[in-house]
Amino acid sequence: RLGPNVVCRCTGDMVRAISRKHHIADILRTTLANDGFDTHYQPIWSIPKRRFVSAEALCRLDGTEFGSISPAEFIPIAEETGLIVDMTYLTLGKVCSFVKNVRDEHPDAPLECVSVNFSTILFMQNDLAERTLGIIEDSGIDPASIKIEITESTLVSNLDTARSFILTMHEAGVQFCLDDFGTGFSNISTILELPLDIIKLDKSIVWHASERERDGDDFLKHLISAFKAMGSEVLAEGVETESQRAFVERSGCSLIQGFLFAKPLPAKKALEVIGETGRR
Ligand code: C2E
Ligand code: CA
Ligand code: CA
Ligand code: CA
Repeated sequence: RLGPNVVCRCTGDMVRAISRKHHIADILRTTLANDGFDTHYQPIWSIPKRRFVSAEALCRLDGTEFGSISPAEFIPIAEETGLIVDMTYLTLGKVCSFVKNVRDEHPDAPLECVSVNFSTILFMQNDLAERTLGIIEDSGIDPASIKIEITESTLVSNLDTARSFILTMHEAGVQFCLDDFGTGFSNISTILELPLDIIKLDKSIVWHASERERDGDDFLKHLISAFKAMGSEVLAEGVETESQRAFVERSGCSLIQGFLFAKPLPAKKALEVIGETGRR
């Protein structure tokens, strides 16, 4: 590809990296065929309600020949190979069963909804809305128990498809969350016109802004007020310290997701944590 008379040398490290990637793609294929992905749930805390109210479903790949593989490594491979499409439907189905189980077996649990991540690649599928709604409806749960997370970069690169998907699903009762806000350069007016129930501030923004607040940087506070005025709740991701917590509380965020409150946990453990009250 570089033209005639060009010789490329592959170092051992490059060969190992490429081979690991192919290997992980194989592991993903096998795991998918065996329904073998684990789904963890990270509890989400409501500041005004002073309790956990929801959770984010996060995919896990443990016990492979490489040990635990981080989503930061396997999700991009799943996206490149297209495997993310079926992985997402599988995860959505598991999340629906989890919610169904909570509704049937623990009707008093304060879990209002669970969110699922939808990658950009899904927006290339013509039957996205149909399949997504099919899975939710087949499970028999209230669609309002499901929240779909779309990243800011998906919105920027697929605005029309994403908008029509959001509008169709929202009509059926499904909620939406804009993930990784602050990393994708979206047009604020675009965000404001979509029915987004939650705007998630990316952890990089939370960490940066909480350090800079002393210098009088209250831009974020104004932005949060604007989102609230349009009817979206603002969630701060990546809250790890008490000072970050104090900052996001003062800034007007109403939801917190971070290691200070809870890590992603297996379903049963997450439900126990969500049920705990008055400890924080
Ligand atoms: P994300 O959607 O932004 O998910 C939040 C990530 O932040 C999770 O990483 C979570 O463990 C981490 N996190 C939460 N609180 C804290 C904190 O206080 N400090 C720090 N340092 N990190 C925190 P995780 O589980 O490793 O997932 C990474 C990314 O992989 C996710 O980022 C998401 O983009 C992707 N991902 C994970 N599961 C799925 C899935 O089922 N489908 C898709 N499409 N993507 C997924
Ligand atoms: Ca997310
Ligand atoms: Ca995020
Ligand atoms: Ca992220």
